[in-house]
Amino acid sequence: MTTATDAPPGAAEAGVGAAPRGDALDTALTQLDDVAARMGLPAGIHAILRKPARALVVSVPFEREDGTVEVCEGYRVQHTTVRGPAKGGIRFHPDVTLRDVTALSMWMSWKCAIVNVPFGGGKGGVAVDPGRLTERELERLTRRYASEILPIIGPYKDIPAPDVNTGERVMAWIMDTYSMTTGYPVPGVVTGKPLHVGGSRGRAEATARGVMVTTLAALRRRGQDPAGARVAIQGFGNLGSHLARLLSDAGCAIVAVSDRQGGVHGDALDVGALLEHKREGGTVAGTPGGEAISNEELLALDCDVLVPSALGNAITADNADAVCAPLVVEGANGPVSFEADRILAERGVVVVPDILANAGGVTVSYFEWVQALQAYFWSADDVNARLRRIMERAYDAVAELAEQKGLTLRQAALWLGVERVAAAHATRGLFP
Ligand code: NAD
Repeated sequence: MTTATDAPPGAAEAGVGAAPRGDALDTALTQLDDVAARMGLPAGIHAILRKPARALVVSVPFEREDGTVEVCEGYRVQHTTVRGPAKGGIRFHPDVTLRDVTALSMWMSWKCAIVNVPFGGGKGGVAVDPGRLTERELERLTRRYASEILPIIGPYKDIPAPDVNTGERVMAWIMDTYSMTTGYPVPGVVTGKPLHVGGSRGRAEATARGVMVTTLAALRRRGQDPAGARVAIQGFGNLGSHLARLLSDAGCAIVAVSDRQGGVHGDALDVGALLEHKREGGTVAGTPGGEAISNEELLALDCDVLVPSALGNAITADNADAVCAPLVVEGANGPVSFEADRILAERGVVVVPDILANAGGVTVSYFEWVQALQAYFWSADDVNARLRRIMERAYDAVAELAEQKGLTLRQAALWLGVERVAAAHATRGLFP
């Protein structure tokens, strides 16, 4: 473990604090430096925020079915806990690095501050391809990783959640591993748990619901009635499929959707038919009632709102000029590259940034944590109403700051997030 002024263990290999590499951490640091200069952030606080407060690198040995032992590297990074316990997902992916996890933990700090939930930023991961593991191997890997990061997690320290390739089942194993060591159940140690072990109603569709609320708010602010607004959604997984249904229920016309295999477009697609087609064939491509469209064509479609909800870097310098939608809402994390963001801003395209648009997930994670601590559970209506209030308030705060300071929504969101974290640092003072 390290302090803010030391390099974290493994930093030399992972390059934390090393020369720029043009990766996620460089982007996160450039964003921070940019907003720090704009807002006149005190140099000491700026320096503190450039480093993760704590970064743990662990070895994760686990037994394969054939009796051999495999060893993976795992990470848990807490960017800051100045506003509350660290909060952020755990991803299992072969490309996970300490630098990426550090960048993601920094974005979590700003995201939690923007929606004003009392958490700091955290993120974790194991460099592994879970697709080649059996269920038993995955469980052994998860439990060993959980036990290695156990000293720094806990309901008042750091609360993991699902991320890429992890879900309810992995969260249940982490909660169980933690609870076995304490000797009593601790549901507040993770969020994104199954409902019957302390999960929250509304969690599964929370991110999509938050994206829906910000999309409607952005349309209204542009003076456009959401009813009939033409929306194209790239990605039809957990986020994209819930979002299509919610926006359609809100009166928008879903004019295109796509997934890895391809897409469909039409004047107003029937979301029920899309869900049905995907359930049967695993893809939306070929859904009756729509015409085929490629992912590249979808991004360039003439529509009112484009919601990239699949991958990072879907819109880059190569295709940013082709985007026709005047409004882009980042459902996915980082779907608009650094360079593309500049191109879209110059063209007058409004981009609602991921740290605002998809903060509904962490907001309902906060509700789940509160419910677990109180052992008192809310109805879905309660969860959804509270989520709507928080997302609308966050959107308004960011949009007003953007107008007041002449900033893009991304710059304003970063400003608001950094300002709130910095205010907590300034108020608490520097220990010792
Ligand atoms: P998911 O795995 O359920 O779905 C991903 C979807 O993207 C699938 O439909 C897949 O076919 C599609 N896709 C993959 N490659 C594609 C390609 N090249 N072109 C077009 N489509 C492609 O994932 P998800 O949970 O829906 O998350 C989507 C994005 O939203 C990710 O960036 C994730 O980090 C972000 N996000 C999700 C949540 C959440 O709660 N689910 C929260 C915050 C951010």
